[in-house]
Amino acid sequence: MSNLADKLQSPHVKTLTPYQSARRLFSGGQDWLNANESPFANDYSVDASRFNRYPDCQPKTVIQSYAQYAGVEPEQLLVSRGADEGIELLIRGFCEAGKDNILICPPTYGMYAISAETFNVGVEKAPLKADFSLDMDAIESQVGKVKLVFICSPNNPTGTQVDAESIHQTLALFKDKALVVVDEAYIEFAEGENWANKLADYDNLVVLRTLSKAFGLAGLRCGFTLASPEIIEVLLKVIAPYPLAEPVAQIAAQALSAQGLATIKQQVGELNGLKTELRAALSSRAEFEVLGDTQANFVLVRTEHKQGLMDALVEQGILVRDQSKQLYLDNCLRISVGDKAQNARLLAAIDAFFKQETA
Ligand SMILES: *Cc1c(COP(=O)(O)O)cnc(C)c1O
Repeated sequence: MSNLADKLQSPHVKTLTPYQSARRLFSGGQDWLNANESPFANDYSVDASRFNRYPDCQPKTVIQSYAQYAGVEPEQLLVSRGADEGIELLIRGFCEAGKDNILICPPTYGMYAISAETFNVGVEKAPLKADFSLDMDAIESQVGKVKLVFICSPNNPTGTQVDAESIHQTLALFKDKALVVVDEAYIEFAEGENWANKLADYDNLVVLRTLSKAFGLAGLRCGFTLASPEIIEVLLKVIAPYPLAEPVAQIAAQALSAQGLATIKQQVGELNGLKTELRAALSSRAEFEVLGDTQANFVLVRTEHKQGLMDALVEQGILVRDQSKQLYLDNCLRISVGDKAQNARLLAAIDAFFKQETA
């Protein structure tokens, strides 16, 4: 059928397909262990008395409290509709469509490439080495060819944190040439250092953060970009006039209050304990190989029975994420750490499946 939309759409959009987000793939289920969300939902209140007004573009309380939390100046911070919008703004602010490229290090988070493709920006790849460390030779060969370098640490889906020396080297290699974006969506779960406190050392360093993971607010859509005031100024030129809805700003401010932060700290501690237990339980089962590391809130496993297991879990309302199409990750599933009951249901369903398989 020759429809008008088909005839008129931009050529680079024609080849795109919508991002297969966890929520688009499966809407049912009861145990959502497929999007690295927090199993904990905290209570917030909303004051409707200002809903007749447009919200602040960069709500002061949110900016000030996150700046304090991250140890940066308010001028070094941008709040947006999730870290995903931060990725998009960086691409729109710094890359020219049809000409410039970004660099990604697969296997990694999918949205860097998807966002680039949406704006007709090219995607170069410097795959991780087999041990999931950065391939510095591959990265060096891209100097001068890319405007943005995305490094996810802790990396989704491998759970590994990139060693600090490799990031220092990357920042030095691309000095005056490209921005190096360290995606710290999972930093609260990690043991290693964060990069927010190194902004003063590198004017090409950008750090991404989110309230979607440790803070348990994936439904809120609120994230942060940390960078020099000059970089933030550029992003403010391309951001929408009202990127954050008023209820979002109110709830984010509550999550970042002293009391909110104390709750999150306690929940991260609990989740890290549950993660250790889940990893141990999975690696003790002969059918699984545990891959990567657990510096985030998920466990990556390989099993010969990937598809059968996945189907059996879905039947029980337990959703996990298939990662088998990613480089090095054939037959791999990524399982987010749930609460105690969810993890127990998961392990019981796994045991029931393998009992049947081997019967
Ligand atoms: C979940 C995730 C994000 C997205 O965060 P939002 O704030 O929900 O947009 C960004 N980066 C990585 C690596 C993620 O896993």
